[in-house]
Amino acid sequence: MTTTFNPTKISKNHSEAPEVPTLGSELLIEVLTDRCAGCQECLIRCPTGAIGLDTDNWIVTVDSALCVGCGQCERTCPFSAITIDGTPKVAPSERHYLQNRAIPAIAPWEETRSGFSNLEAVLAEASRCLSCPDPTCVRGCPAHNDIPAMIASIREGNLDQARSIFEATTHLGSICSRVCNQAVQCEGACSWKLAGNEPVAIGLLERFVFDNSEIHAPHIEASSSMKVAVVGSGPAGMSAAWEFVEAGAEVTVYEADPIPGGLLNHGIPEFTLPSEKVSEVWKSLSDAGVKVELNHRVSQDDLQDFTEKLDAIVLANGASSPIRPSVQGLDRPNVIDAMAFLAAYGEKLGAHNDTNAIEGKKILVIGAGNTAMDVGRIAIRFGAIPTCVEWVTESFARVRSDELEEARHEGVSVRFNTTATLITDGKATLVTTQQSDPKVLPKLIPGTEEIVDADIVVLALGYRLGSEFGQLAPQAPFRASESTKPDDNWITSGIFSGNHNYNRSIADLSWKREVAVAAARSPYAANVFVVGDALVGPSSVVEAMASGREAARASIRAHASKK
Ligand code: SF4
Ligand code: SF4
Repeated sequence: MTTTFNPTKISKNHSEAPEVPTLGSELLIEVLTDRCAGCQECLIRCPTGAIGLDTDNWIVTVDSALCVGCGQCERTCPFSAITIDGTPKVAPSERHYLQNRAIPAIAPWEETRSGFSNLEAVLAEASRCLSCPDPTCVRGCPAHNDIPAMIASIREGNLDQARSIFEATTHLGSICSRVCNQAVQCEGACSWKLAGNEPVAIGLLERFVFDNSEIHAPHIEASSSMKVAVVGSGPAGMSAAWEFVEAGAEVTVYEADPIPGGLLNHGIPEFTLPSEKVSEVWKSLSDAGVKVELNHRVSQDDLQDFTEKLDAIVLANGASSPIRPSVQGLDRPNVIDAMAFLAAYGEKLGAHNDTNAIEGKKILVIGAGNTAMDVGRIAIRFGAIPTCVEWVTESFARVRSDELEEARHEGVSVRFNTTATLITDGKATLVTTQQSDPKVLPKLIPGTEEIVDADIVVLALGYRLGSEFGQLAPQAPFRASESTKPDDNWITSGIFSGNHNYNRSIADLSWKREVAVAAARSPYAANVFVVGDALVGPSSVVEAMASGREAARASIRAHASKK
């Protein structure tokens, strides 16, 4: 037996629910009443009040007129008692005008990805958000930013309030909105995406808010006797410093580079993340009293001294040891790692080499992730001829699709299913690979060898913890792989049934991020915390930021409880 509409006997109060978009064809939502157990999982997740409960028969009822077809109910019903047919009533995404923009023919040094500049488009995009009662987007965001509340403030035209809402959980909104891979974070978990539609452009909305509202200084709540050291000034260190200074602590940050920002400076080029976005956060921190010791690489003696004298130490050193593939010839002098290349030519550290040094050179980049794209795009800007090779199949590669598109448009040759097997003087041997299952390593196809010119070879396969950190903190935990699987709460929330990226469900990815961030709350020694990539290996900027935040908050709580 099925029902398409019954009078609702009990329904939620949706007086504040967003206006239902009127687009899309008629939807047919049906409850298979012989399957419905009246558990109301769907009722509490429906964002529009389309579902009610018939208390006489203890089954849910639906109002097709209110249904927008987001699919939360169909996805979360444990008994598969709801079906939806028809096109969802979702307004078209406003990000299309950015996606269709002309990419400049000559690769510029200035930021290449534009954000919304038109308030009408911003408001139209914000109106697509359903203010879901179970906002899966928040769980997809490693920082757990309150996305629906931020978007509601945009709809009210209150950008300052929107910024404040995000600042409860992030100090790096203008940075994360530019460098997060939203497809596997907030936007990948948006209800619209989970229902197979274009997600709300959360990253672009966040960027608009942070670029168009006044920068807030740290809000120092009280003075404290706490004295702390933060080692590393990347996203994890910045976030920890912000939390500590807001708690009234005396904070000193130690940075080995000549400018603060860590990976945000030497790992991300200007055309992806303008340096002013990093320096404005540091200015706020400095104005609030955070001291920064630049060109200071913390030694074991320093750490011993800090441990004896300070209330807390946060080690946010990052992961800096390049992953080296098993390719013959990697010890040749023309082989360098991506971070060295970016530091030399990426401009932000202001110390790049002779700009003519690589003009006309053939550069072979091993890897085709975001860092490899950065290397290739910088090489293009210096007149070099870069080729990135990646042995996995393109659809399984860990690269932002817009980053790949831009790199190719600028002239970077990106070859998937290709790997290098031998590096000699000025040459490399490439081989074609085959991979149809992302869980199975690619196979080399015999007889496909080709020899190509390779004046410089750049390793861009990612980073792991360096031995330097092991010497500094030999007892530090390292939690590179968490095998914990999502529990039932995550599955019934609907997030588990999200589309797959990198052949991993959004739930699986976000659960691992959750476990990694939570791990940062436990000190490894009495007053020493390890955070970010130093704790879990290479992660994203927002994960590192959340990790630094959690360690600082845990440390502040522990200090307060001693009083
Ligand atoms: S911090 Fe990143 S994941 Fe979180 S809402 Fe912003 S763009 Fe999305
Ligand atoms: S952004 Fe998407 S998941 Fe989040 S509240 Fe809005 S519609 Fe729901």
